[in-house]
Amino acid sequence: MNVPFVDLKAQYETIKDEVHIALDHVVKNTAFILGTEVAKFEEEFADYCQAKYAVAVNSGTSALHLALIAAGVGAGDEVITVPNTFIATIEAILYTNAKPVLVDIDPDTYLMDPGRLEAAITERTKAIIPVHLYGQPVNMDPIQEIANRHNLVVIEDACQAHGAEYKNKRTGGLGKMGCFSFYPGKNLGAYGEGGMVVTDDEALYREMRILRDHGSENKYCHKRVGYNYRLTGFQGAILRVKLKYLDQWNERRRQNARAYNELLSELNMITPVEADDVKHVYHLYVIRTENRDKLQKYLNERGIASGLHYPIPVHLQEGYRFLGYGEGDFPITESYSSQILSLPMFAELSKNQIEDVVNAIKEWSRNGHQD
Ligand SMILES: *Cc1c(COP(=O)(O)O)cnc(C)c1O
Repeated sequence: MNVPFVDLKAQYETIKDEVHIALDHVVKNTAFILGTEVAKFEEEFADYCQAKYAVAVNSGTSALHLALIAAGVGAGDEVITVPNTFIATIEAILYTNAKPVLVDIDPDTYLMDPGRLEAAITERTKAIIPVHLYGQPVNMDPIQEIANRHNLVVIEDACQAHGAEYKNKRTGGLGKMGCFSFYPGKNLGAYGEGGMVVTDDEALYREMRILRDHGSENKYCHKRVGYNYRLTGFQGAILRVKLKYLDQWNERRRQNARAYNELLSELNMITPVEADDVKHVYHLYVIRTENRDKLQKYLNERGIASGLHYPIPVHLQEGYRFLGYGEGDFPITESYSSQILSLPMFAELSKNQIEDVVNAIKEWSRNGHQD
């Protein structure tokens, strides 16, 4: 009963022919960098996010970096986000020479707690990055309200939340700009690196398009210092194929989450809470339990893969001591980091596989391994 954490091959098998046709098309047109496939994908993805514009880039990290530059964030500024995120959120802030300021998470959703935001705002604060972690949208209304009051830019880190909804609106189109990653294991994944910024603001869109391509709009004419953050034609072509299936795949993830919720309900496990007014797309299915390490080991020995998202909060990472935080600063994030466990989750996960995972957890509980 081997159950992988994700199975990219299973998904590939379902779209193989379409993918090969799309790749062939790119080769025949030798459109390797940006090109028409990427341009069409930008249009389709903007549409999908109910936003006006999209700028394709080479990673989610680049997307966040460009969004921050476009928002005017630079040296001396502060950007507020959470310690419970992938490190790229913080890296992007540091690339602009701004200072990341962290606020602890909501104990039910594990996402940015809007109630803690106001206390973290100073006259240097320029932007807020709510992270729609695990595929669940952050409670955006109170965040936007606070941002409006203090004249701050809201940039969504939607790198785990393609297709998730908040009050029937898709993530990415909720803030001033929304950033996505197409890392292969994401809900919408490329066959390499990829990312996107979506926005309704034409000026920001134009600026980011120039910045991703060496600061140039017309060849060899450089309006400003830019970057090489371009998406490749192959990735654009593959992502166009995959975007058509995203809703269907997300629906499968939601069904899988419901199956887990039901089967785990008799046990002493804390299962994910889907907030009111949101559509969670379960990039990750994260449970919480005491003795997490022992459970993970037990599952591992039975061929059941799992993950930790994330085992060490940002502020306690070795390379990030210079941020000036320490143990005890974000008690919810810290205590959860030793209790969370991500179970196998992907669209093609079968009912049998889910039962195997849950039966192994039940066995572990029954055998009293909990103490
Ligand atoms: C994946 C991810 C990123 C970065 O994406 P890359 O494409 O790997 O650069 C940023 N933030 C979060 C929350 C992510 O999960």
